[in-house]
Amino acid sequence: MENKIVKVPFVNMEANYKEIQEELDIAYHRVMRSSSYILGQEVEAFESEFANYSETKYCVGVGNGLDALHLILRAMGIGSEDEVIVPAHTYIATWLAVSYAGAKPIPVEPDEQTYNINTTLIEAAITKRTKAILAVHLYGQPADMDAIQEIARRHNLKVIEDAAQAHGARYKGKRVGSLGDAAGFSFYPTKNLGAIGDGGAITTNDADLAEKLRMLRNYGSRVKYENEIQGFNTRLDEMQAAFLRVKLSKLDDWNNRRVNVANQYLESLTEYTHLTLPTIPSWAEPVWHLFVIRHSDRLNIEKHLHNNGIGTLVHYPIPPHLSGAYAGNNWDVGSFPVTEKISQEILSIPMSFHMTYEEVQTVIKNLIEAI
Ligand SMILES: *Cc1c(COP(=O)(O)O)cnc(C)c1O
Repeated sequence: MENKIVKVPFVNMEANYKEIQEELDIAYHRVMRSSSYILGQEVEAFESEFANYSETKYCVGVGNGLDALHLILRAMGIGSEDEVIVPAHTYIATWLAVSYAGAKPIPVEPDEQTYNINTTLIEAAITKRTKAILAVHLYGQPADMDAIQEIARRHNLKVIEDAAQAHGARYKGKRVGSLGDAAGFSFYPTKNLGAIGDGGAITTNDADLAEKLRMLRNYGSRVKYENEIQGFNTRLDEMQAAFLRVKLSKLDDWNNRRVNVANQYLESLTEYTHLTLPTIPSWAEPVWHLFVIRHSDRLNIEKHLHNNGIGTLVHYPIPPHLSGAYAGNNWDVGSFPVTEKISQEILSIPMSFHMTYEEVQTVIKNLIEAI
């Protein structure tokens, strides 16, 4: 195999650690000395800080983002016989949460400009069984929540946000996580707010829902050994909560640095009109979890960038409806043509808050060469 020098990695977790090593080490020692490792003071403090950050009343820490979405559906009483509207173009976890709860995901095609759910197509997918709309803020760009809320109100549906890629983003000035009945977040290490392992959280303004979620994550129990309902074991770790508190205090700064990288890309690449750049609707303040470009000859661009030591990924190469997990649902090739076309043309170029000016310029230079 050829030995290529990595000039610009897709993400740089080492740089992330180095930037805050001292504070993480302090957090680590604080937890070790506390001798309290499950649902202790750190989780409680993080929940309060993250609720505050998300402009919601409650936050419930859980084991990961998939469980956050799954528990929300359970707490809402959504299960077998029910349908939930989901974007066709998303990470498969959005769909799996619905399936895991026993309900059926009903996919809706994306808007070609924003890659988020096309709200003009939602109503046609609603049936008597529909219980909720699960909207995703994909790539860090908020979905059109007013349009979604309006449809939900008319049909008496719950609105759930999958905010796993959008910690800190704003829609018409309001934080994601505060825009529906409840929101699920992931703290997978590479997310905008990431733990040193798995983690997740739910935000909501509904006190009853929050209480139910606290039971569901902890064996259906409020008081030790009193199991009121059949729950799960999916709690945010005390150690992860301590690390997340350190990172949460930096999140706005880190998101601003992502915006700065995105602006350099946008300014330098707009003149190349056959390359499709991300569109930012007037109501959106995105946090650039990913910077996704689109081109009919993706393969060639991918190859050129890789040959020049620049990391890229595709989010996502196989749409959920064509994955093995959903085989047998009669969703053949061609069922969701917009999603399928997008999945063949999109490319995520390096995006992280550690990127230097030189690294961003290297990506731009190589990208221009490739197109
Ligand atoms: C990461 C992600 C999830 C799942 O989060 P995990 O913590 O990995 O379980 C769900 N939805 C979207 C859109 C994601 O990007």
